[in-house]
Amino acid sequence: MSDISFFDQVNQSFDRAMAFTKHEPALLHQIRACSSVYRMTFPIRRDDGSIQVIEAFRAEHSRHKLPTKGGFRYDLGVTEDEVMALAALMTYKCAIVNVPFGGAKGGVKINRREYSDSELERITRRYTHELAEKNFIGPGVDVPAPDFGTGEREMAWVADTFQALAKDKLDSLGCVTGKPVAQGGVRGRAEATGRGVYFGIREACNVPEDMRALGLPQGITGKRVVVQGLGNVGYHAARFLQEDGAVVVGVAEWNSAVHAPDGLDVVALKTYQNEHGTLEGFPGTRALDDTRDALELECDILLPAALENQVHDGNRDRIHAKIIAEAANGPLTADASEALTSQGVLILPDTYLNAGGVVVSYFEWVKNLAHVRFGRLQKRWESQANYGLLSTVQEMTGQTFPAEVKKAFLRGPDEIDLVNSGLEETMSTAYHELRKKKNQHGMPDLRSAAFAVAVDKIVASYLDLGIFP
Ligand code: NAD
Repeated sequence: MSDISFFDQVNQSFDRAMAFTKHEPALLHQIRACSSVYRMTFPIRRDDGSIQVIEAFRAEHSRHKLPTKGGFRYDLGVTEDEVMALAALMTYKCAIVNVPFGGAKGGVKINRREYSDSELERITRRYTHELAEKNFIGPGVDVPAPDFGTGEREMAWVADTFQALAKDKLDSLGCVTGKPVAQGGVRGRAEATGRGVYFGIREACNVPEDMRALGLPQGITGKRVVVQGLGNVGYHAARFLQEDGAVVVGVAEWNSAVHAPDGLDVVALKTYQNEHGTLEGFPGTRALDDTRDALELECDILLPAALENQVHDGNRDRIHAKIIAEAANGPLTADASEALTSQGVLILPDTYLNAGGVVVSYFEWVKNLAHVRFGRLQKRWESQANYGLLSTVQEMTGQTFPAEVKKAFLRGPDEIDLVNSGLEETMSTAYHELRKKKNQHGMPDLRSAAFAVAVDKIVASYLDLGIFP
């Protein structure tokens, strides 16, 4: 673990990157500061009739663009410092992937495994109520999303509670993203962060000179992956990597970890975990005595997808991976990240790599405000235009195309196609923007480049606002 607080670690990385820029110090001071934090306590009734007082937070790090955006988590480790740090990461993340939001984050200090579904519903609804009371939620104010320990179900409760309270209900569904599709969500949001993590790793692995420097072949195929945290982000990222030819050799969860040097099927492992509540005993794998040892397994790509501060000065010397893909927020301490970079490890930073969630959340918010499903206007038009094109090509060449080629070509885009295409384009473009910045400015790592790219854009919007002439 690190002695430095999580928020200070984020700012340490920020300061390190800013040494490569020429921005005015007062402006940088404004950007790195956390704008506001709302700390609340509220009572809930447990199923046994007792009353428990719950502690919760929402931090809005930067309002240079509105609304502010960021998930909320259910975890016993939630603190004011943690939500401030995570909100700061959201500010930079949104800027990196050109999503026009400020950064925010929330958390409720509970171990969700100790609460029944109805207790979790009461907590979620009361948390939303508290946020609404203080104007810390709303489609143009601050828009939460899922994070550690929360998912679609919680987002549906938030939306329902906010809508009941909203004075202007027209755009009120845009108060939260990550909702189920039937309740105003967008297709592809549930797996968006994991899919984005996959796109980011794929971009990195497709740069021949970067892979040569690591002594690895180009591409995903055959790369050995270890995943920590088989939840929303970790599971989907691992699944997409596996589908593209990667070999998952180790998986760790909070209560168990398994190793399979020749690879395991991550989809079957998830089903096994859902049935048994543990990874232990999954056929063809060896259980580890300590789940934390999974981080130290031989692999090419280490994918920490659980919580912050997992790789630190105490274990960094035992990490074997050549690529660390920060699917979680802050899984490496600032010092461990610096040390591993100097040892030649390629670190794909959280501020970029797990941004897929907020990219697709942005699409969901736009959909909610537009009140129209993506693809509704152009699907049939594109299908007919493609039909005309195909007929002309067939007439001119005398060739006919196989039925499945025709079918794929004539099908206009659905919402999921457009969402995934927008996500892929965003993650791919952003990766090369960071890499270019790093190389042009002789920066030590992509983390510094990510901060620099983000701050350039935030500074530009402050100047647009006329706040810092
Ligand atoms: P989740 O709750 O769906 O999954 C987390 C998983 O990690 C769970 O399966 C949990 O059991 C496991 N876990 C908990 N403690 C562990 C430990 N000590 N060792 C191994 N596994 C452990 O949460 P998530 O949404 O997948 O979030 C994971 C990380 O990704 C967090 O850092 C979060 O901030 C970040 N993130 C999430 C999203 C999103 O869209 N959900 C977006 C960006 C970043």
